Amino acid sequence: MPRVPLSPYPRCNAPLNACMQIGGNESPDEGDLSVCYECGAFLTFDAFLQLRLLSAFEIAALSPRNLMGMTKIRMLITGA
Ligand SMILES: [Zn+2]
Repeated sequence: MPRVPLSPYPRCNAPLNACMQIGGNESPDEGDLSVCYECGAFLTFDAFLQLRLLSAFEIAALSPRNLMGMTKIRMLITGA
């Protein structure tokens, strides 16, 4: 599992130092998308591979494929 610099998730403060890639095992790059494993928040990696929340504008600009995939992952995490 790829390791990233320890940082709290931006919304719920869950600690993060690793991430999982769907269909692979590569380290994330700046701009890659993520979903918080605790609260289901939509996130992206910055240049230092720390996570920040996606803005409403960025969520609205997601491709339908990415939005559907992230929404499915959020539903699995939150059960909603
Ligand atoms: Zn969270």
